[in-house]
Amino acid sequence: VFLRQIDAHGFKSFADKVNIKFDSGVTAVVGPNGSGKSNITDAIRWVLGEQSARVMRGAKMEDIIFDGTDNRQSMGSASVSLILDNTDKVLGEKDEVIITRKLYRNGDSEYFINNEKSKLRDITELFMDSGLGKNAYNIISQGQVDEILKAKPLERRKLIEEAAGVMKYKSRKLESEKKLDDTRVNLSRVNDIIQEIS
Ligand code: ATP
Repeated sequence: VFLRQIDAHGFKSFADKVNIKFDSGVTAVVGPNGSGKSNITDAIRWVLGEQSARVMRGAKMEDIIFDGTDNRQSMGSASVSLILDNTDKVLGEKDEVIITRKLYRNGDSEYFINNEKSKLRDITELFMDSGLGKNAYNIISQGQVDEILKAKPLERRKLIEEAAGVMKYKSRKLESEKKLDDTRVNLSRVNDIIQEIS
């Protein structure tokens, strides 16, 4: 899989609709401080499901919506799409996968996979074990290299598990265990009621 294009509209400093195209190989983004280089990686993180406003370098999530400049009005929503080349079929059968996230000022948010309305969970599952995804190491920020080198054995094991593709099953196991627990609680409630009425 490789990221072919990012379309952003109303996201942070990208008031106008922008299409950032990438070729295979190495791409370098250059520009003065504050010109919006990091906003590009923020956009990628955001579409992949980042839920923390702090990670997005804001106080609340709505801060990622273009908030106007001296000569330009703020906008009511932000939208970012990642257009992924999937000819290697890592993310299913389609040759191209488009992931979109939208956020409105009232806090409503929407996710789309190939223009079909989806849930955040669908996106997380799609990327799980692909080596992409919000918590995968596809975006290495300053300081993270050091963190990996200093990681404790358990943390390093997590990294290896993600690379080996077992995270999906671990997360499904946790979900099933929770359902089992809930069912046990319900069962004991039913037993109490049976005892009360018998
Ligand atoms: P540096 O090299 O200093 O890290 P950079 O090129 O990575 O800079 P960014 O941090 O990506 O720059 O961009 C910051 C710019 O984005 C600032 O000028 C800031 O005003 C602008 N910006 C961030 N959020 C918004 C928003 N919601 N609306 C408008 N502009 C925004």
